[in-house]
Amino acid sequence: MSDKTTCAVVGGGPAGMVLALILARAGVDVTVLEKHADFLRDFRGDTVHPTTLRLIDELGLWPKFAALPQSQLRKGTFEVSPGHWVTMVDFERLRQPHPYVAMVPQWDLLNLLADAGNAEPSFTLRMSTEVTGLLRDGGRVAGVHYDGADGPGELRADLTVGCDGRWSVVRRDAGLQVREWPVGFDAWWFRLPRREDDAIYTLFPRLAPGRAMIVIPRQGYLQIALLIPKGSDVRLRARGLHAFHADVLELLPEAGDMVYTITTLDDVKYLDVRMNRLRRWHTDGLLCIGDAAHAMSPAGGVGINVAVQDGVATARLLAEPLRRGVVTDRDLAAVRRRRVVPTAVTQALQRQIDKRLLGPIVRGDKAGGVPASLVRLVELVPWLAIIPGYLVGVGVRPERAPAFARRTPAGGGP
Ligand SMILES: Cc1cc2nc3c(=O)[nH]c(=O)nc-3n(C[C@H](O)[C@H](O)[C@H](O)COP(=O)(O)OP(=O)(O)OC[C@H]3O[C@@H](n4cnc5c(N)ncnc54)[C@H](O)[C@@H]3O)c2cc1C
Repeated sequence: MSDKTTCAVVGGGPAGMVLALILARAGVDVTVLEKHADFLRDFRGDTVHPTTLRLIDELGLWPKFAALPQSQLRKGTFEVSPGHWVTMVDFERLRQPHPYVAMVPQWDLLNLLADAGNAEPSFTLRMSTEVTGLLRDGGRVAGVHYDGADGPGELRADLTVGCDGRWSVVRRDAGLQVREWPVGFDAWWFRLPRREDDAIYTLFPRLAPGRAMIVIPRQGYLQIALLIPKGSDVRLRARGLHAFHADVLELLPEAGDMVYTITTLDDVKYLDVRMNRLRRWHTDGLLCIGDAAHAMSPAGGVGINVAVQDGVATARLLAEPLRRGVVTDRDLAAVRRRRVVPTAVTQALQRQIDKRLLGPIVRGDKAGGVPASLVRLVELVPWLAIIPGYLVGVGVRPERAPAFARRTPAGGGP
């Protein structure tokens, strides 16, 4: 089977879904190919940042978003010594319409974007459709080969955008060169049942020498990332279930008996954390964005936001060339020019968090905690907590929805 679209978007993650929705609102014929049958996956974090919240609002999706199950993180307050709490990260001071991080299961956000996309006549989402390689006309990328529910096929496209994440098939097939940076940790990813009366969990890590843990509250259960030293998965698994339970209880004593609901280490998924960036983000007929162009570390929980901003910028810059039917090398290069600085700055900050905080902690080289000098400074000038709040919640060069994509929610304003 062979068919045709104007823009083929490979991967229905945050970058791909935002890009496709905005392009469809510009009247561009766009097809998203997503390899999974649904969005119900756990490995991608749940944080929706103030700039993404503003975007959702501008797209006219706020009432539906606000109705999703979620919790709000307004401040990052750390216990710097027993009983002594200091707010180190403050989102509330940001001049944003929604100055907090919303913790929303990512599948809910992606379903919301898919519903909005399906309302546009030029939007097509094909689930259970795995892209297996690029289709070429001479040297030019002319679409993709895929394996779908009805068997293999080809989708021809004026432009193919790789939004297929850190293990991007598209970028590998295109032979785009990747620059890798070492990361000091990997993650174990698992769930524990949640008690009704449990504490307030935040996305800020719990730290102890040799371990760090991020606990994401979801309805009925806790989604947990236990950070482990890079490359130690096999060695740590070999210590067995008992040692795993002890590790978890050290950082999350309130889990109590709940920890024993994990009865096999098969329930603990290993995530190979990467940080890299493409040197060139495009080739003739193909562009990569989101994690496919720059895999982000979980540090700071900003990867979703950066991917969303990539999607917005790409749609804004390419909607007109796509409508005209001529996308030049210059048009594609403009996307990288717009997005490389925010990405590089964010990755540089993540490398510092990795090098100075998380890496040494998970290797057991130093005790957990925020440096005492920093704590004293923020206690002296509490306003300074807005700086990490801005870097995490807004980031460098935030993007706004283009005018053509904006909508007022049915029934009035947000
Ligand atoms: C352990 C861990 C925790 C994290 N936690 C957070 C967090 O809390 N907050 C945060 O902001 N960021 C977090 N991140 C980073 C974040 O997950 C990514 O930066 C973000 O999801 C990138 O979005 P994306 O759309 O570019 O790619 P992805 O979210 O990876 O989406 C790619 C999509 O492409 C699909 N796909 C892949 N291959 C194919 C193919 N061949 N054909 C068709 N479809 C395909 C996938 O199924 C997927 O739906 C975390 C990362 C890790 C490793």
